[in-house]
Amino acid sequence: MLSSEVKEFIKKSLIKGEVVCLTGAGVSLESGIPVFRGKGGLWERYDPQIYGYPEGLTALFKTTPKRVIDFIVDFYNSILNSKPNPVHRILSLLERQGILKSIITQNIDNLHQESGSRNVIELHGNAYRIRCSECFNKFTLEKERLKEFIRLLKKYRSQRIKLLKILARYFPRCSCGGRFRIDIVLFGENLSESTLLEAYRQLDNCKTLIVLGTSLAVYPAANLPFYAKERGAKIIVINPEITNFSDYCDYQIRAEAGKAMLEIFKCLTIQDHA
Ligand code: NAD
Repeated sequence: MLSSEVKEFIKKSLIKGEVVCLTGAGVSLESGIPVFRGKGGLWERYDPQIYGYPEGLTALFKTTPKRVIDFIVDFYNSILNSKPNPVHRILSLLERQGILKSIITQNIDNLHQESGSRNVIELHGNAYRIRCSECFNKFTLEKERLKEFIRLLKKYRSQRIKLLKILARYFPRCSCGGRFRIDIVLFGENLSESTLLEAYRQLDNCKTLIVLGTSLAVYPAANLPFYAKERGAKIIVINPEITNFSDYCDYQIRAEAGKAMLEIFKCLTIQDHA
């Protein structure tokens, strides 16, 4: 699957701790979490113009709460029942070996951290965290508590008043008076400025950026490979489909994340005696 040119590059370059990986939903597909874009993605079943935006979800909740709850339950159940897959584990191993400096992820599923990765920059937040919408105070929710919340949503999915009570119970008011909400970034919302700055900082001295399992259709994450390339980094894109950066990358591996990362890992660890 890897051309001899890519193998050569990997052996020479992925050794120094100057490697950063930008990950997207394709990385967690093998863990059972569906992607939004791409073949079989959630947007084939749910209209992103409605389900991707807070305004769309709020308007739909007022008329047919069941449809909003079905979407939330669908997506959250896949996250709550997931476990890290070999891609997460290989990335965490590469960090421990001093090869990978950091992971910048668009994923909200916490699987990089669960697999042991430490330096993870979460551009779009974390599905297990809540934050105050006023003072940005944050808390992590236990998996069991979230499961219980999702079970209740499912049970009362057509009863708007009951659902509002459940939401108020699980997302209470903060001591500052603000209301807690889930700490994820929906379409049209801004990313945390400090998180984005940290992502750029990681790319300032990065020699190789691996863009793994993302369509690069969501901004500002999609700018990051351009930023790294302008500063001299080589870019490897791994995706079974063409991405928005395919024309600009140095190496493109048209393959599933699991297969490609296993090949890369073998390439780094098995000495070639040919
Ligand atoms: P995305 O832009 O990361 O697109 C998914 C990409 O994965 C597509 O380009 C697709 O071709 C590719 N892909 C499919 N199968 C793959 C495989 N086996 N190996 C490698 N790549 C594969 O993400 P999205 O799905 O458009 O979602 C947009 C945003 O929604 C994300 O940035 C994230 O914030 C959120 N989201 C998070 C998760 C998660 O946390 N696991 C899942 C879906 C969506």
